[in-house]
Amino acid sequence: MSGGYISARGVAGDLDLDADVCVIGSGAGGSTVATELALSGLRVVVLEEGARVDAALHGQMRPSESLRHVWRDGALTVALGVGDSPSINVTMAKVVGGSSMVTGGVCFRIPESVGQHWASELGLAEYHPRVMEPLFEHVEKAIHVEEVPAAMRSRSTQLFAEGMLKRGVELKPIRRNTKGCNGCGRCNFGCPEVAKLSVDVSYLPRAVAAGATVYSHTWVDRVTTAGGRVTGVTGRLLQGPRGEPRGRLRVRAGRVVLAAGAWHSPGVLMRSRLGHPRWVGRGMTLHPGFRVLGRFDAPVRGWQGALQSAYTDAFEDEGITLMGLFVPTGVLGATMPGVGREHLENAAKIGHLAMFGGIVHDKGGGSLHRIPGREPLALYRMDAEDKARIPRLLTLMAEAFFAAGAREVFLPVLGTRGMDADAFRRFDLSAVPGSRWESASQHPLGSARMGCSRENSVVDGEGRVWDVPGLYVADGSILPTSLGVNPQLAIMTTATRVAWRLRDRFRREA
Ligand SMILES: Cc1cc2nc3c(=O)[nH]c(=O)nc-3n(C[C@H](O)[C@H](O)[C@H](O)COP(=O)(O)OP(=O)(O)OC[C@H]3O[C@@H](n4cnc5c(N)ncnc54)[C@H](O)[C@@H]3O)c2cc1C
Ligand code: SF4
Repeated sequence: MSGGYISARGVAGDLDLDADVCVIGSGAGGSTVATELALSGLRVVVLEEGARVDAALHGQMRPSESLRHVWRDGALTVALGVGDSPSINVTMAKVVGGSSMVTGGVCFRIPESVGQHWASELGLAEYHPRVMEPLFEHVEKAIHVEEVPAAMRSRSTQLFAEGMLKRGVELKPIRRNTKGCNGCGRCNFGCPEVAKLSVDVSYLPRAVAAGATVYSHTWVDRVTTAGGRVTGVTGRLLQGPRGEPRGRLRVRAGRVVLAAGAWHSPGVLMRSRLGHPRWVGRGMTLHPGFRVLGRFDAPVRGWQGALQSAYTDAFEDEGITLMGLFVPTGVLGATMPGVGREHLENAAKIGHLAMFGGIVHDKGGGSLHRIPGREPLALYRMDAEDKARIPRLLTLMAEAFFAAGAREVFLPVLGTRGMDADAFRRFDLSAVPGSRWESASQHPLGSARMGCSRENSVVDGEGRVWDVPGLYVADGSILPTSLGVNPQLAIMTTATRVAWRLRDRFRREA
């Protein structure tokens, strides 16, 4: 049997399909589930709101083209800060392959401490690190996870590493899902070498070869049920010139796997009136991220080298992870402070800038709400302890840059300019109001969380929505807490477990 890729834009009229399993969303979670199930012989249909963009073509796009064709809303999605919380720019992709297409390729297993917490405190024994080991190995093989060699570190990362070492902390190498990477450093906007093995390259072709069909430009409105059991999904075909809904979509399937990502899966559940209303769209974590730039006298050319190659978990107990990164010069230039001449002067420093980032291992202060249209309203109330972590995180990064010889640092605080070491030490980070932090998130998680009781979660440990036979969730939304590290590997591994259990159940019930 052979499947294929079909764009709803090429379909005249409506679309009416039958499948054993309908998967909503083709990102890290959805592609993994679809592949495992198709390889098991099930008839799988994947529905994806975004377009299909060939990986090689994506690798040739300018960042501005990638933002338009691959990223959701041109990367301008925001979780609005409530009270004294920062508003956070939450980026994700809308494309066949989902946000996997725009990652830096970083792959972390679920940290030991997090897995143990899930197993012992949340009653999710199957997520104990020891039990998860074979699943991690399975996924890591499928996406070719390898360690980034030290030789591929950018000068930007080397400088940060030198500064950290002077403060007694040695950076660790990052692992990524790459094969044949040449360290050109533009992973987030497509890989010119197709060396980043995102799911559109690693998983989906295997699903299609095994008979799955992937429909792009299809938007799922809701899951349908009869007598409490899942019967399929309904939605729209995005056939208009600007992606407006035109034709109707209907898929009949006894099993539906919701994998629209933590930002959108709750919306499908809410519109379908399924899942525990107290938890659907609640408790979302974001890993709020902050970056610091250090300016050096000598050229840094931070764009040369693997985008992300080193990190430290030395501050894990404080809920902080620090990680190397860089952004394309055009994008970086636009974020430098100042207007007119001052901006020009700051933008001219780009070749001398090093950059490092940090994320907060946050508690679930995010919530998603239904409003007209296809996007949710997202709010984020940052926990007081998480807020207190921001000054510490920025101080760690700024001090490391100064220790490495930086002349000035640029902080993610609206309205500030470059600061030398004295100015930085005089600057009271603890007095910065939430509205002035510049924060970004690439990791929305936990908005339809997994648990061991229907009273405190949306799905059980196998991803089954409580009391809705046939309905599963297998994406970032089911992770019950934030991880403190990048989540794609955790999502794919969890999705693999969901797929295998669904497959076994399907065979028993057939
Ligand atoms: C810029 C960036 C860099 C990142 N870098 C890393 C990294 O280096 N390492 C790492 O581990 N993680 C990284 N991440 C995070 C990682 O990509 C995500 O956590 C992961 O892809 C989420 O998987 P998912 O299946 O939950 O959702 P997604 O991969 O986002 O997939 C969801 C898909 O569902 C589709 N969809 C939504 N609603 C509907 C609907 N109603 N009908 C049909 N389709 C729908 C969406 O269009 C999307 O394609 C990064 C993310 C971003 C944005
Ligand atoms: S750094 Fe490697 S994986 Fe990233 S875009 Fe360049 S070649 Fe591809």
